[in-house]
Amino acid sequence: MVSKPADKEKWKNQLTPDQYEVCWNKGTEPPFSGEYHDSKDKGVYKCVCCGSDLFSSDTKFDSGTGWPSFWEPAKEGSVKEETDKSYGMTRTEVDCAKCGAHLGHVFDDGPNPTGLRYCINSLSLKLAKGATTGNE
Ligand code: FE
Repeated sequence: MVSKPADKEKWKNQLTPDQYEVCWNKGTEPPFSGEYHDSKDKGVYKCVCCGSDLFSSDTKFDSGTGWPSFWEPAKEGSVKEETDKSYGMTRTEVDCAKCGAHLGHVFDDGPNPTGLRYCINSLSLKLAKGATTGNE
């Protein structure tokens, strides 16, 4: 689902300016600045916009990049991927499959078992501590 401009506007009232910039203008928070880059808390990382389950803490790993990093989404279909050719690079952008909020990017230099590294902005996430995805 692609968000229409009218949808974007409605999120302005629900988000901080920094959250809005990342989620709806595809911004990137400075590394090591976010609430969750270092977090070891157990739970489910949900979309800060719509509350959809995005990542389990069980798949979080320390990538050393300064952004929360995961090797797998919470469920198949939790996130959608798009080719991003901005800034002279070709990267794979990751968005919330439910509401379309920008989350971050995925790279193929992650750990086993998937070899993927979902590099996600803390500002796009809200940790529900102690929650489970049902996959654990
Ligand atoms: Fe969402």
